[in-house]
Amino acid sequence: MFERKDLEELEKFNSEGELVVSLFLNVSPQERKRGGYLSKFKNFSKVIPEDKILYVKNDIEKIEKFLQAERESFKKFLILYSCSKKGLWQRYDLNIELKEELIVEKTPYTSPLFDLLDNYQKYGVLLVDKRSARVFLVFLGDIEEYGMIHHDHVPGKHKKGGWFALAEKRYSRHIEHHVKMHLKDVIDKFGDFLKDREIRRIVVAGPDEAIYELMRILPENIKQKIVGRTFIEKHAAAEEVIEKVMPIINEYEQMKESKTLSDLITRARKNDNAVLGIDDVMKYLRDRRVMKLIVPKDYKIEGNVCFSCGFATQQEVDCCKECGSCIMKAYNLIEKAIEMALQSGALIEVVKDEKERNLLIENGNIGAFLRF
Ligand SMILES: [Zn+2]
Repeated sequence: MFERKDLEELEKFNSEGELVVSLFLNVSPQERKRGGYLSKFKNFSKVIPEDKILYVKNDIEKIEKFLQAERESFKKFLILYSCSKKGLWQRYDLNIELKEELIVEKTPYTSPLFDLLDNYQKYGVLLVDKRSARVFLVFLGDIEEYGMIHHDHVPGKHKKGGWFALAEKRYSRHIEHHVKMHLKDVIDKFGDFLKDREIRRIVVAGPDEAIYELMRILPENIKQKIVGRTFIEKHAAAEEVIEKVMPIINEYEQMKESKTLSDLITRARKNDNAVLGIDDVMKYLRDRRVMKLIVPKDYKIEGNVCFSCGFATQQEVDCCKECGSCIMKAYNLIEKAIEMALQSGALIEVVKDEKERNLLIENGNIGAFLRF
């Protein structure tokens, strides 16, 4: 997993003119079984231009050795940055697939990773009880534990009797006080964690009593981020945690998707900074006015793009309607739209749910929220 500050650091990396190899490679179990990932890497390195290959020979060899030696530790997708001459070696493992590429430039190629941070939601998971708390981050189908808070000084309940009623009451107030102190500390630390990692969605887990106490003292700004609650055993392994949490996250994302789509359709009808239909969307993309692009998953819109001015249309045209140039190129316009959105820093939402996807297709195939 990576954070924005890791990428910013990487972006600032000064190669002092040396070349950096950036590798984006699918290393899913299927690819590994047949050794396909390795031959793909070799093919990629074969087409590095001659004026560059001399300078990165060491890096390519190092990566190849690494790909063979570390295969058991891979997830679905691997990203490597290597510049041996300046001591750069950075690895990221993802559980989703990106476009496979090998890029040799003077700077690390980081934009696909920045795009992930902009377009996917991170979730914080707080697993709490009266004495302890564990904190997890879930991002792109991956989970990482970030820390454990334990307060040993929270006294336990007395199981045996023998106390006066009054003392009993005082004692339970004493416990209550400690639990409260514990939860306050948890909230402080969790709040910092959320801020630090740019987390805007939370799942809480724990026994009823602890959750009840937590809710009583949780600040409103954190409460608003909660998208669901579940029960998870306090010593659960990370795999069990993600198994319990993913259904909540999926349900939430589907709900959000459906809300986004109905907003888009309503606002487009009212001409309220939203549009539907590929020709309009492409026009606003060219003007760099798109804030968020909404596209159906795995869908194709055939059309023509003007070579000289970038005008695009779904219609059959011989010449550009904007500049008159007659060299038009056929494209999957959705791919083109995504490419343009990425270049202009727009957000992209891919509609996956079948019902929602059909709704979008019925309403012009593609849409966008505009900046102005
Ligand atoms: Zn044109």
